[in-house]
Formats: sequence, C-alpha cells, structure tokens
Amino acid sequence: MQNISEINKLIKLISKLPGLGPKSAKRIILKMINNRQELMKPLAETLKEAYNNVIRCNICGTLKTSSSACDNCENISKKYNKICVVENISDQWAIESSSTFQGYFHILGGTLSSSNTRSREDLLIDSLIERIKKNNIEEIILATSATVEGQTTAFYIQDSLKNVNVKISKLAQGLPVGGEIENLDDGTLVSAFKNRKNF
Ligand SMILES: [Zn+2]
Repeated sequence: MQNISEINKLIKLISKLPGLGPKSAKRIILKMINNRQELMKPLAETLKEAYNNVIRCNICGTLKTSSSACDNCENISKKYNKICVVENISDQWAIESSSTFQGYFHILGGTLSSSNTRSREDLLIDSLIERIKKNNIEEIILATSATVEGQTTAFYIQDSLKNVNVKISKLAQGLPVGGEIENLDDGTLVSAFKNRKNF
C-alpha cells in the first residue's frame, strides 16, 4: 500500500476518538474518501465551523456558540434553588432525560486526578461559588461518578465550598461503585437522586 501521509495522520487522529482503534479509523477514512462530496467535504467544513464557533461557557461549563448567550445558565426564565454538579455534558443529558431533577447544572468538564492536569480553574469552581451566591442557591448536588477521580473531585468541591452557606448533598444508593453517570439507567438515577445524602 502506498504510504500517504495525509491518511496516516488521519488514522492517528481518528484512533484517538472514544471507542475507535486503528482498524475502525481506517474504515472510517476509506468511507470518507469514497464519498468525497457527500461526506468528506461537509465533514471537513462542519468540523471547521464547530472549531470556530462552539466554545465552553465560562460560567456553567456547558457548550454554546460563541455568538449567543448560554441556554444552560443565562437564557433560563425559571428560577431554581439547586445546582447539580456533573462531570460532563452527557451526564446532564442523562439526568435531564430521567426528569428527576429540577434545577441548574454545572459542568466540570472532567475530574481532578493525578494523571491529568485539570485545575480548579478548568472545573470552574470559582464560578460555581459565584453562581451559588448570585442565585441564592440552597443546595448543591454533587453528581460525580462513583470512581476514585469522581469522589476525589467531590471532596475537593466540598472543601472549596466550606465557607459558603449552602447545603451539599451527594448521589447515594443505587450508584454502583465505578459507575459513570451517563451510563446509568433512569431508575438507578432517580433512586440515586432521591436517596442523596448530606455531604
Ligand atoms: Zn452557561
């Protein structure tokens, strides 16, 4: 096979995506090359658009377009007294679809761990404190995963909020050890919310 550096680069990049290895990366690339107009071109253009226009909200951590206010924390007409803190947007989606929680969301964008360099700033902790004060929030629900990193992050947030007048609770029963929020079924999530404990 001819050694084409563009394709090799693509294979390396696509293999880094979740759930994909070099084998599936090659299949994806071949599919794109065989469908230049219908797939490859619009994909390249859409990726560029997303790269230029989609940013992280620096208040709540969700994704938004750079030209508009955030639907997650700014364009909300309802007033809530709770904020649910999650690791990723997919966790928010899972919790929303279970309809068990009425309140705001705060997306950390990851966890604190020794293996990566996520900092307090990345997790938007100062913004979380601002949001609590500004919106008269009465309860913070820590819905981080039942993994070591998720729990370390929960303790870190608890510690960061020790001088803030807010009740802190944490998802409880039903959350399997090692369980990631986005992979839980609705029933487990509802039970974890109902049985949340003071933290
Ligand atoms: Zn926001």
